[in-house]
Amino acid sequence: MKQITIIGSTGSIGTQSLEIIRSRREEVRVIALSAGKNIELLIDQIKEFQPKYVSILGKDHRRTLREIFPELEILDSIEELAEISVDILISAIVGIAGLRANLAALKHSRRVAIANKETLVCAPHLVRETCKKYGSEIIPIDSEHAAIHQCLSNYTKEEVSKILLTSSGGPFRTLSQKEFQEIKLEDALKHPKWNMGKKITIDSSTLMNKGLELIEVNSLFNIDYDKIQVVIHPESIVHSAVSFIDGNTIAQLSNPDMMVPIQYAIDYPEKKNIKLKKDFDIFEHGILEFHKPDFDKFPALRLAYQAGRQGGSLTTTLNSANEVAVELFLQERIHYLDIVKIIEKELESSEMIDNPSLEEILSIDNKIRDSIKLSS
Ligand code: NDP
Repeated sequence: MKQITIIGSTGSIGTQSLEIIRSRREEVRVIALSAGKNIELLIDQIKEFQPKYVSILGKDHRRTLREIFPELEILDSIEELAEISVDILISAIVGIAGLRANLAALKHSRRVAIANKETLVCAPHLVRETCKKYGSEIIPIDSEHAAIHQCLSNYTKEEVSKILLTSSGGPFRTLSQKEFQEIKLEDALKHPKWNMGKKITIDSSTLMNKGLELIEVNSLFNIDYDKIQVVIHPESIVHSAVSFIDGNTIAQLSNPDMMVPIQYAIDYPEKKNIKLKKDFDIFEHGILEFHKPDFDKFPALRLAYQAGRQGGSLTTTLNSANEVAVELFLQERIHYLDIVKIIEKELESSEMIDNPSLEEILSIDNKIRDSIKLSS
């Protein structure tokens, strides 16, 4: 039996992970689950999957759970939850809020199957050091990184000539720059290909999601930014490809369905049968398109390349400013175009710290949250 913990079990990735586990109950046992605010869904999940431990934000929520489930261990934080040793911790939480827990998990568990890209963006060096020291591993859940992981399986990093990191282009790919002025929250929340949490849906519309993924590629595979090409591929069938020095380019294709990379991260290196909503039918897709990204229309991508190349604490600045700006946009307190302006301003005014410690990363994050919220 594989023992599994999920942090962020009530979100889009968390619920899809549980859907896979639901069909594999004889091989997989849920040890711990965590939620943010959605206590109703967490209660349903506890009843169905009977974990030994759970955590949720807020004392009142924890008190309610203690009353309903007196046998269950209710922990005060996700960090404590992540300290429980399991075979795989699925990190399905959104934002830098997952950073401490992911590092704790890498100390106590064999594998972290990671969707929480913000950890890889803010603390790539800490993740690498922790994996090395504790002999743990990170397997990506993000579909593009799962694709790259598979393409690399018969090659070394030195044999890579280019990573082709694909992007659907988001809902505003065909808008003119002038039309960006008219974008409203409801437009940005409609992704053409993927059904995801709100933060990543907005990030996908600005292409900051691709910017974060670009840094995630560098962080996971240690590939130089000059070798990472973002490719706009509206059909979202090719999840990424890798070109090698021997002239081969290897791509991974599947329907846009997160069940595929989630199962890959759970089972790797094994391969198991999967029951998908829809089988892959190549004839259905006909012509596939590939375009260069437009950095003028999507400046978030340019900022991500810059922050990634400069490195150090600037990737935290990029990520934290984006998290706060997206939150303000979701609360309809700023215009869509302000998201990137806020990030650019923060990057211009911040100093870079090389190899920031965990405490320095969290302190930068706090300062950025305070300064942006004060000025908005
Ligand atoms: P969701 O918003 O759907 O889910 C986020 C989860 O994290 C929820 O369980 C939420 O709890 C929990 N959570 C949020 N804040 C906190 C907090 N401060 N403390 C504890 N728990 C918290 O996000 P997604 O599932 O879409 O995304 C999760 C991560 O996966 C992100 O990093 C995203 O970029 C990445 N990803 C997502 C993909 C997708 O298809 N959705 C694809 C590839 C990557 P609650 O709901 O109870 O408040």
